[in-house]
Amino acid sequence: MQFKDIYRTAQRPVLSVELFPPKTEKGWTNLRKELAHIMAHPVGFVSVTYGAGGSTRDNTLKLVKEVRDRYDVTTVPHFTCVGASRQAILDFVDRAIAEGAENLVALRGDPPRGQTEFIPAPDGFRYAYQLVAFLKAHYRDRLSLAVAGYPEGHIETRDLATSIEHLKMKVDAGADLVITQLFYDNADFFRFREMAVRAGITVPIVPGLLPITKYSQIDRITKLCGASIPTDLRKLLLSFEDGSPDQQMAGIAAAIDQAGELLENDVPGIHIFTLNNSLATAHMVEALGHYFE
Ligand SMILES: Cc1cc2nc3c(=O)[nH]c(=O)nc-3n(C[C@H](O)[C@H](O)[C@H](O)COP(=O)(O)OP(=O)(O)OC[C@H]3O[C@@H](n4cnc5c(N)ncnc54)[C@H](O)[C@@H]3O)c2cc1C
Repeated sequence: MQFKDIYRTAQRPVLSVELFPPKTEKGWTNLRKELAHIMAHPVGFVSVTYGAGGSTRDNTLKLVKEVRDRYDVTTVPHFTCVGASRQAILDFVDRAIAEGAENLVALRGDPPRGQTEFIPAPDGFRYAYQLVAFLKAHYRDRLSLAVAGYPEGHIETRDLATSIEHLKMKVDAGADLVITQLFYDNADFFRFREMAVRAGITVPIVPGLLPITKYSQIDRITKLCGASIPTDLRKLLLSFEDGSPDQQMAGIAAAIDQAGELLENDVPGIHIFTLNNSLATAHMVEALGHYFE
């Protein structure tokens, strides 16, 4: 089912999850085990990330196909402009569509490690809105597109109003859905959503949530993407040994509270960045299952 229909027809908030394609055989074996636990819950769609510079291109499509075949669920590849010419974009998306994709998460991507500025590939795109416009012109209604939104502003565009102007360009170019970057303070999301709606963005805006089960790992990720961890939550998590069961449970309890408040405030769904681990997702859905489709 396409994004635009998933949210239009849903009677209740939609639970969606993000996976990444493992790099090793052990990682695949582990993911298959974790996935069985995740898919025991009412998952509306699964999205699969696209590695830096297309390094996971084949594995992104392999995982998309495997999840769709095994669980008969809408499964969506991500795609970034990093290193991709227009022809390479068409090659990837043609393949994804041939294998059954009806949706894509369309992204610019980050500058490759060691580079501070994003440099478009020859005959490629500088911004995600250009990718969206190109895909809509080429595939029209065969593809429904999601784009990324940033409740605290994008790391290169910290001014929230400007960041939202750029988001509006992606929606105007044809995106049907916004999935946000991770955040831990719902006030940031509510402010962002209000400003987005005031700017004329009418497509569903789905909060992306990353439960903290190992503080050092999430601290690294938030520094890379420019998201912040509120002081109280940081203090609480740092009072436990890194990655210990107590820290995991405190992080998951915080994620349940965060998601619960969002679900009480009219979000169309929540998107969980699972990091290929079922523990937090399972606890969250057990606590909040009554909200979902
Ligand atoms: C839900 C989600 C999923 C993601 N999945 C992946 C993934 O699978 N693989 C991966 O590598 N990365 C992924 N990312 C990270 C993403 O690639 C980075 O955040 C990247 O830095 C920006 O991508 P974008 O599509 O938002 O870019 P854009 O929307 O193009 O924005 C990039 C920067 O350019 C600015 N900008 C946009 N338009 C203009 C304009 N017209 N003029 C001037 N400045 C402008 C923006 O404000 C921003 O600072 C994901 C992010 C999210 C939120």
